[in-house]
Amino acid sequence: MSSIVRTLCPYCGVGCGLEAVLQANGSYKIRGDRAHPSSLGMVCVKGATILESVGVSRLTEPQWRRKLTDDFQPIAWEEAFNLLVEQLNNVRQEYGSDAICFYGSGQLQTEDYYVAQKLVKGCLGTNNFDTNSRMCMSSAVSAYQASLGSDGSPCCYEDLELTDCAFLLGTNTAECHPIVFNRLRQSHKRRGDVKLIVVDPRSTPTAAVADLHLAIRPGTDIDLLQGLGYLLWQWGKIDEVFIQQHTQGFEQYVQVIQNYPPEWVAQRCGIAVDQLVQAAQWWGNAERVLSLWSMGVNQSAEGTAKARSLIDLHLLTGQIGRPGCGPFSLTGQPNAMGGREAGGLAHLLPGYRQVENPQHRREIEDFWGLKPGSIAPQPGRSMWEIVTGLEQNQVHFVWIIATNPLVSMPHLERVRAAFQQSPFTVVQDAYAPTETTAYAHLLLPAAQWGEKTGTMTNSERQVTLCPQFLSPPGSARPDWEILAEVGRRLGYEAQFRFATAAEVFQEFVQLTQGRVCDYSGLSHERLARLGPVAWPCPADTSDGEAVRVKRLYLDKQFATPDGKARFAALRSQGVAEPPDGDFPLVLTTGRYYGHWHTQTRTGRIPKIQKMHPEPLLAMHPHDAEKLGIQSGDWVRVRSRRGQVRVKVMVGEQVRPGAVFLPMHWGELWGVQQAANELTHPQSCPISKQPELKACAVRVEREGKDDFRV
Ligand code: SF4
Repeated sequence: MSSIVRTLCPYCGVGCGLEAVLQANGSYKIRGDRAHPSSLGMVCVKGATILESVGVSRLTEPQWRRKLTDDFQPIAWEEAFNLLVEQLNNVRQEYGSDAICFYGSGQLQTEDYYVAQKLVKGCLGTNNFDTNSRMCMSSAVSAYQASLGSDGSPCCYEDLELTDCAFLLGTNTAECHPIVFNRLRQSHKRRGDVKLIVVDPRSTPTAAVADLHLAIRPGTDIDLLQGLGYLLWQWGKIDEVFIQQHTQGFEQYVQVIQNYPPEWVAQRCGIAVDQLVQAAQWWGNAERVLSLWSMGVNQSAEGTAKARSLIDLHLLTGQIGRPGCGPFSLTGQPNAMGGREAGGLAHLLPGYRQVENPQHRREIEDFWGLKPGSIAPQPGRSMWEIVTGLEQNQVHFVWIIATNPLVSMPHLERVRAAFQQSPFTVVQDAYAPTETTAYAHLLLPAAQWGEKTGTMTNSERQVTLCPQFLSPPGSARPDWEILAEVGRRLGYEAQFRFATAAEVFQEFVQLTQGRVCDYSGLSHERLARLGPVAWPCPADTSDGEAVRVKRLYLDKQFATPDGKARFAALRSQGVAEPPDGDFPLVLTTGRYYGHWHTQTRTGRIPKIQKMHPEPLLAMHPHDAEKLGIQSGDWVRVRSRRGQVRVKVMVGEQVRPGAVFLPMHWGELWGVQQAANELTHPQSCPISKQPELKACAVRVEREGKDDFRV
């Protein structure tokens, strides 16, 4: 092992390159990898402190208990595998394969994802493999698919420096994707002529440096986007040649946007007409417009429609398929992209194939050496459908890998009750306890980042090899190895003859050949030699070509049957649960700079705990005054589903009528402080992504429950 290991930060989808540098005492230090094309040596506090979390609170051996009220007992792997095979066979026999569900994570490496798809969708014959990407960016997946013909972000990070107008919608990039923001901000400051527009109901650190902050009412994103479209169309700031040659649906789009005149839009969004006009002028006059979006768009009951309406603006103005422009979805997790490409959502198969497509199923069955009809023809259960399946006694086996749904899912009380009645729950994780391990019958210890070799793909499609340089604790094993062993024991020896992660990857990339996400020119050996490589990278790609910056659709040929992109032409619906007399405020949830998701790692790092010791409810002075509340006061926040007890931070970070709470706190880190006690599961009908960003709440001063806003 070299004294410097080049790898990738395992937190967010920015995908910063890290170097683990061996010290004289045998330990490692982390620093940014200057040669990594995505991050150029930069890291944020999470990446810089990653090693502090690796050895803490680890699950080191399999553990089992018959009932949730029993204590866990350590067992050998042999016993654990026997249990798994027995349970899987019993459930299949008694209830059929659809009673078996898996829930994975964007923390998994592509090799883990691929082996899981082969096991679940191929060998077990159910598409019930969903991941926490469902909660994160499945709306972006649906939108790219519907508008451009395929998933896959067209842009790359170099566009952050090339754009003349950056339009940030529903993304607090400064805190949630800090190194992407650094690159954009540096260019914004250096060039002086770049316009930065931030659309967010909150005054985030991202909005603080914007040239224009549109603090729209929660749920009015589509009104704003169609209002911008209306102005651009009225002014003739559209690309007629592009529209005519490369799109479909323009006429319907024009019919829709005519319903969004500026005065109406401004009033509906709660902004000034001048602000709307200014944003439209900057978009319309810019040579290159880049839009960035993340959870503020995706986590919505109209998430796909929001993302598609944003893409519509790019189609209207021809702002796609050129350097410096395009619609760019920032993924939340480090390998959300690799997971998508390996088929890691309940409606997908490897290589961006769809389970509903008979030809796609046949291609995969042939390649996996399975008989025709092995893969079920309908999409599997999304995570919320797994919960409802437990409620209705239709799900009898759940295997959760590297994620913590007992904090991250909406309506937690209902999720807890569902898992309480789960007949058999497996939790495979690096860490214990988590809020989810409390609902497990079987715990499986997983090797994590640094302890196993695999690849991850970031938001700009860069694939980075992450080699093992640490020993896993106890008997922890790589996720893909555990899944492959179960496959062999179920009788699929030929399908799971992998000896190394490199062999898994080698098989996976063959399934991407000729697809939009073509990895077929990649191997672990090549990634070790060249460093990160962005896809598409077809098999005949030279080394020089492999490492160049890549964008999709430079030839304006989209991935639809006729090569044309599709206008969506959609109308706004607003939030699924609007405020009313009983619950007069809109709660929006989000993230703090230092913490990651449910604190499984960052809660165990003292420096980060010190930065963010507790969740604070951000509230506008106008609303706080009505309640007689000051910063530091304790309040109870109630929704129709539950309540939390938190301290208040009064300030103009949120607009009147809205409050904000971070989502990082579960029962392990604070009593009654989980934001998802309050949120609801209503989801986008296309992406099935729940609306975690908006629900109706009321705030009560602690001890004065009759005093309401
Ligand atoms: S920006 Fe994301 S990928 Fe980069 S160091 Fe921070 S958490 Fe890691």
